Amino acid sequence: MFLPTTEEEIQALRWDCLDIILVTGDGYIDSPFAGVAVIGKILLDAGYRVGIIAQPDTASGSDIGRLGEPRLFWGVTGGCIDSMVANYTATGRKRRSDDYTPGGINNRRPDRAVIAYSNLIRKYFKKTRPIVLGGIEASLRRIAHYDFWSDSIRRSVLFDAKADYLLYGMADRSVVELADRLREGGDPRDIRGICYVSPGIPEGALTVPSFEESARDKTAFTEMFHTFYRNNDPVTGLPLAQKQDTRYLVQTPPPLPLSGDELDTVHGLQYEGDLHPFYRKAGDVKALETVRFSITTHRGCYGECNFCAIAIHQGRRVTWRSKASILDEARAMTTNPRFRGTIRDVGGPTANMYGIECTRKEQNGVCPERRCLFPKPCPHLKIDHGNQISLLKALRALKGIKKVVVASGIRHDMIMADKKHGPPYLQELVRHHLSGQMKLAPEHSETTVLELMGKPGRKDLLAFRNHFYRLTKEDGRKQFLTYYLIAAHPGCSEDDMRKLRAFVTGELKLLPEQVQVFTPTPSTYSTLMYWTGRNPFTGKPIFVEKSVRGRERQKRIMENHRDKNERMTGSNVKKGGTRRIPHNVRSSDRSFRK
Ligand code: SF4
Repeated sequence: MFLPTTEEEIQALRWDCLDIILVTGDGYIDSPFAGVAVIGKILLDAGYRVGIIAQPDTASGSDIGRLGEPRLFWGVTGGCIDSMVANYTATGRKRRSDDYTPGGINNRRPDRAVIAYSNLIRKYFKKTRPIVLGGIEASLRRIAHYDFWSDSIRRSVLFDAKADYLLYGMADRSVVELADRLREGGDPRDIRGICYVSPGIPEGALTVPSFEESARDKTAFTEMFHTFYRNNDPVTGLPLAQKQDTRYLVQTPPPLPLSGDELDTVHGLQYEGDLHPFYRKAGDVKALETVRFSITTHRGCYGECNFCAIAIHQGRRVTWRSKASILDEARAMTTNPRFRGTIRDVGGPTANMYGIECTRKEQNGVCPERRCLFPKPCPHLKIDHGNQISLLKALRALKGIKKVVVASGIRHDMIMADKKHGPPYLQELVRHHLSGQMKLAPEHSETTVLELMGKPGRKDLLAFRNHFYRLTKEDGRKQFLTYYLIAAHPGCSEDDMRKLRAFVTGELKLLPEQVQVFTPTPSTYSTLMYWTGRNPFTGKPIFVEKSVRGRERQKRIMENHRDKNERMTGSNVKKGGTRRIPHNVRSSDRSFRK
């Protein structure tokens, strides 16, 4: 069932009121890919009556007042993407389209959505039930953070939104605990994964530099961020306290990740896989095209790319669903009249982390001074793609399934590190699970930039590339690799971009169309570098391109080359936005098999 979004639907369910109303910056897609739908369904499953108001008009009370007042709390999220990222490009231009808005026009999501929606609720419901923030926007802005759009350090969004609580990270467990506690009239401030405002420092909490100090002094901000990052592990994380004005932001230790069985339960809840009919009249939601027939196999990522916030939001521990649960979801798809036989994606934040984790994390937490994949895969991480091969084989053997695509990004260094099952896994992908291309994310070619990004070097990439093309050739397929690249990352100069261009055209034999300009999103190490102009791990100064023109110029270095080659070779645009120039696989390269 869809969660109700109108008074009529509440009556049809014979509910006299709602316990919880969730307000979101996205259109209401009832799918396990939409955080608000997952939280709503988990609460429903726990016995609560939940309604959803999607993309309310902030200029009137007509939408926000539609369902009345909840009995327990309001849950407010900006949606699947931080509203500032959704509304503006990396160079500050307003985005015209929005993949999560019905009709696709970017005209429904306010800037700083969680603040706007909290204000809206308070405007029309004086002295109302607690307002609880959640989702990626709130999660990454839960402590003092650098905000690119105002070029300043902002305090916790909990203070700016004047909300009562903030649930950070994956809140499946904490949201039910919060609802239970509020229903019983108890105090929720000891729940894991919650932030609240306190007049003093709770016993046992670690104090980090205050908001004022962090805003004034970049060294203090760096110290604050290191402490914040290191205390993001559910096993070792301590409660944190940060003075924001005369009061303190308090963060309790992170929530424990769901077990595999619990993750199965979450994905086994009933989802419609569609846009709620109330919102359908405004048009289709583009994001649905991708997610309707896709399957999430796991959560979390231990890749720790410095520009990515997944480690802070989902955590560095990967947990995965059982094969049986994934197969059940695939079987259910085959009964959907719209299904044409293709599963569009089977993956997670990084597709090939499914079923691979370090056993030490459960007892000891993640290593504070060491990374699982950078600069090389840690020997304690037993990389074995055997589970994934078995899962993919079982999926494509199901009746009614014609094709299973792995479209999520993969870590090629993990495949290279798995001497036993890496080669057969890649063979499986090449033979059965690509839609003509495989996405890799080398992001850059230059060692100094790659080190600042926390990404592996080019040697493994080239060896992987050669092996991939050898397999596709042997199989007689026309498949190719696409590469995500980033311009203007901290530490990257125009000279580095010219070297990247030479590498991409000379070694990879490609003319990439999709070079992204780095966006300093809240709460990442790369954003810390952008703000401070220093390598946070060595303290050494680094070059940071901050001007809009300079950032665009870095991107254009790649595009200019494309134009030049286009004139020389004519257009050879391939699906997926990658242009290829003749490519010779060095068949002598056998490094993959070593
Ligand atoms: S031992 Fe290695 S794989 Fe395990 S958490 Fe530490 S760095 Fe990661």
